[in-house]
Amino acid sequence: MLEKFERYPLTFGPTHIEKLERLSQHLGGKVELYAKREDCNSGLAFGGNKLRKLEYIVPDAIASNADTLVSIGGVQSNHTRMVAAVAAKIGMKCRLVQESWVPHEDAVYDRVGNILLSRVMGADVRLVDEGFDIGIRQSWEEAIADVKAKGGKPYAIPAGASVHKFGGLGYVGFAEEVRAQEKELGFAFDYIVVCTVTGSTHAGMLVGFAKDGRERKVVGIDASFTPAQTKAQVLDIARNTAKLVELGRELVEDDVVLIEDYAYPAYGVPSEETKEAIRLCARLEGMITDPVYEGKSMQGMIDLVNKGYFPKGSKVLYAHLGGAPAINGYAYTFRNG
Ligand SMILES: *Cc1c(COP(=O)(O)O)cnc(C)c1O
Repeated sequence: MLEKFERYPLTFGPTHIEKLERLSQHLGGKVELYAKREDCNSGLAFGGNKLRKLEYIVPDAIASNADTLVSIGGVQSNHTRMVAAVAAKIGMKCRLVQESWVPHEDAVYDRVGNILLSRVMGADVRLVDEGFDIGIRQSWEEAIADVKAKGGKPYAIPAGASVHKFGGLGYVGFAEEVRAQEKELGFAFDYIVVCTVTGSTHAGMLVGFAKDGRERKVVGIDASFTPAQTKAQVLDIARNTAKLVELGRELVEDDVVLIEDYAYPAYGVPSEETKEAIRLCARLEGMITDPVYEGKSMQGMIDLVNKGYFPKGSKVLYAHLGGAPAINGYAYTFRNG
C-alpha cells in the first residue's frame, strides 16, 4: 500500500512478535496474548512508535532544505526524544517545546528519562508552562518563528507526528508487516490492541487493516483522557491516510474503536490499576511498560481479557509502542517496586 512513498530507514526492519505465555496463562489461558515489539525497533535512542511515522516524514524534511527539526510534546514526551535522535542521525539541529502536560511532581521529572536523553543528543530543549492538548499549539508556532528569526530553516513536526500529512503512513506499514508475519506464523490475529493519544498510530493501523476487513478489530485504548478529541483526530487522520494510499473506501466513525475506561485520573498520571498492570507484566514477562501510555493499554488489555471481551480462543496482538524511558520520571511512585 506504500510503494509510491519515499521512506528513510530509521528502524532495524520488521519488529519481533512474541507470545506472552505466562501472562496468557495467568489470565486463565482462554485467550492467547502476543506482543509486537515496536519498543525494540531501532538503535536510535531506545526506539518506539514515532520512528515508523518519521520514516515517511524525514524525506519531506530533507527535500525542504530545512536545517532544524521543530517539535512539541509533554516534559516526558517520547516523541520529542525520537525527533532529537533523528535530527542527530540526519545532521540537523533540533528545537523542542516541552509543555507541562502532566500534573505530576516527581522531584526530577524534568531531569531524567526522555528529556535527559534529548538534552544529551544536543536538542535545544525549552520548557513551557502550558497544559495538555493534542491540537496545534501556539508555543510550537512561536518556536518555529523564533528559529526563522535567527536565520534557521525550520521543519515543523506536530505532536506525536500525527497531524502531519504523512503521519499515518508508518502504521499502514505495520499492518502490512503483520500480514506478512502471519503467513509465516500460520495464523492471523483476531484483535490488535493499541494505545491511542495523538491518533496516527491507531489511524494508520485502521487503514492498513481495513485492507483485509479487520479495521474494527483494532482496539484503541485511550490514554489521553480527552477521548472525544482523540477519536475525532483518529478518524480525520485515517480518512486522509486512506485517500493518500488509495484504500478505495470511506472509513466511518464506527470504525474507530476507542475504549475510554483506562485513561483516568489524567494524561500521564497512572492509576493504582495502571501501576498493578505495569508490575504484573514486568513480573510475568520481563516486559517494561510505562505509566503514561503502555501501562494503560496493558491495563486495558488485561481488564478486557478478564471481562470476556475477546471470545475464547482469540489471538490478541498487543502493539508495544515503546515509552520505557519515561518510567524514570516516576521513581517515587515505584520506590517500593
Ligand atoms: C506516542 C505514543 C503513543 C501514542 O501514539 P499516538 O500515535 O500519539 O496515538 C503510545 N505509546 C507510546 C510509548 C508513545 O510514545
